[in-house]
Amino acid sequence: MSKVESFLSKADEQHIIEAIRAAEKATSGEIRVHLEQTTSLAPFERALEVFYDLKMNETQDQNGVLIYLAVADKKFAICGDKGINQVVDEDFWDNTKNIMTQHFKNNNFKQGLIDGILESGEQLKKYFPYQDHDSDELSNEISKG
Ligand code: CA
Ligand code: CA
Repeated sequence: MSKVESFLSKADEQHIIEAIRAAEKATSGEIRVHLEQTTSLAPFERALEVFYDLKMNETQDQNGVLIYLAVADKKFAICGDKGINQVVDEDFWDNTKNIMTQHFKNNNFKQGLIDGILESGEQLKKYFPYQDHDSDELSNEISKG
């Protein structure tokens, strides 16, 4: 089993998927998590690559958000689509990042991801409230590299 595979238990993964589902009940934004072992790039650059690989730029309101984590490096980045960047301040993700950093420092990765997802949803709903005709545009499953 690779390190990425063993990083979270099946139950942990389910909790994270549940958090995505819960967050997406409050916002039309689409949140995904990508885990991989390591990257030679800056985390945000790599997150951007993954964002496009996962076709996260194809949501209707361009409001997809990728939470990227390189497990061995303990480095992460949050990458939001154009639709978000156009309407929010530059410090939009700071609160979410701070919450995640605190958990990650304590090696509490599962809770860091869950709280990061829920906080992202809270932030997003101010600009992208849930719509009645919402569809689940991007899979809630955890992507692994
Ligand atoms: Ca949706
Ligand atoms: Ca989704």
